[in-house]
Amino acid sequence: MKQNICILGATGSIGTSTLDVIRQHEERFSVFAVAAHSNVERMVQICHQFQPARVVMGTESACEQVKNQCLGMDIEFTYGIEAMSNIAADPQVDQVMAAIMGFAGLAPTLAAIRTGKRILLANKESLVTAGSLFMQEVEKHGAVLLPIDSEHNAIYQCLPQFTEGARGEMLHHVEKVLLTASGGPFRELSKREMSHVTPEQACKHPNWSMGRKISVDSASLMNKGLELIEACWLFDVEPKDIEVVIHPQSIVHSMVSYKDGSVLAQMGNPDMRTPIAYGMAWPERITADVAPLDLMAIAQLDFFAPDYERFPNLSLAADAWYAGGSAMASLNAANEIAVDAFLKGQIGFLDIAEINSQVLEQSEIYSVTGLDVVFEADKIARKAANDLVKHKVYL
Ligand code: NDP
Ligand code: MG
Repeated sequence: MKQNICILGATGSIGTSTLDVIRQHEERFSVFAVAAHSNVERMVQICHQFQPARVVMGTESACEQVKNQCLGMDIEFTYGIEAMSNIAADPQVDQVMAAIMGFAGLAPTLAAIRTGKRILLANKESLVTAGSLFMQEVEKHGAVLLPIDSEHNAIYQCLPQFTEGARGEMLHHVEKVLLTASGGPFRELSKREMSHVTPEQACKHPNWSMGRKISVDSASLMNKGLELIEACWLFDVEPKDIEVVIHPQSIVHSMVSYKDGSVLAQMGNPDMRTPIAYGMAWPERITADVAPLDLMAIAQLDFFAPDYERFPNLSLAADAWYAGGSAMASLNAANEIAVDAFLKGQIGFLDIAEINSQVLEQSEIYSVTGLDVVFEADKIARKAANDLVKHKVYL
């Protein structure tokens, strides 16, 4: 039986890699529904290549433009976040690739979870901001949650019994989770040098080709901070159980250290098609056109401790986790605003962590009793971060 896939964020980097894996296995997977925000040109291409049944764009105008370039095709076109939730929850969909960038992905990802489907989770911000609720809903609706973020996918693969439901028992044998990080393009820069970097330099990741927001997050180590929180929710651990390890080659995607001294690592070339193919075919394995790992050519694997002083976002994420409740939503919202302002040239690179820190510090923390609490915390933190960007009072 062919699996019907819905791709939220189809025009992005993860969306493109997902479509590539589907193209390699057309007998097994079919693109049923796709969603994106405003990239009309790419969405038109996707429609012509994959002929999905449903297409959702972020705005009416983007939707009309795509529709006008796909005349005569049997596709239902709609727009808006509610329509994205509807396609994610469509009973004809078997798997949902959650790859919208940022907090905007939360509602459609939750809609998919509530129908008990297989969720391929790339959109880490949705788990970071609404973690407790998110995991409760996964449990309640029996959704299969497979992490696509390469580190979490690696940890998942290194916890084999975890996938068979022996979660508590397996974690009992774990000493530490070793979360690897490339260190990003500014790994060796001083703070002074980092104060002058441009968005183009920040988006030039040494090993991975990704969207602009996550590229900046990788450069500021906020991505690792978000991943720290993501790992806590996914694997039922705390920041104290996780050691962040800088590994510039991005070959070891993360590790699990067991009490008997064994350390299991998952390795591979840095290519997101590996975790995507893993998630789509799980528990089977399929080809993904990823180059085989040539250890002789790589020759050397390095590991270092992170520098928390030059990269304060990492500690901020742990602080937000321990603060609990809505603190993680506040930190994430501040970061989304700060990264956007940096990409627009409104603030400097180091200002991102400064804004994150100030917003986290001044945010009131509420217990996450419902989604409304998360949306409210997000809204308040966005306003606070925007005020800081506007008035630059943190300088
Ligand atoms: P991109 O910026 O390349 O793509 C983002 C996608 O989300 C695009 O399809 C974009 O549509 C869509 N989108 C953005 N805003 C909205 C919105 N408000 N409503 C609906 N759709 C929206 O990002 P990536 O693919 O790199 O990352 C996507 C997610 O996956 C992020 O959460 C990221 O952290 C995570 N991730 C990515 C990895 C990577 O290697 N790229 C690795 C691990 C995790 P449009 O193009 O029309 O604007
Ligand atoms: Mg990652």
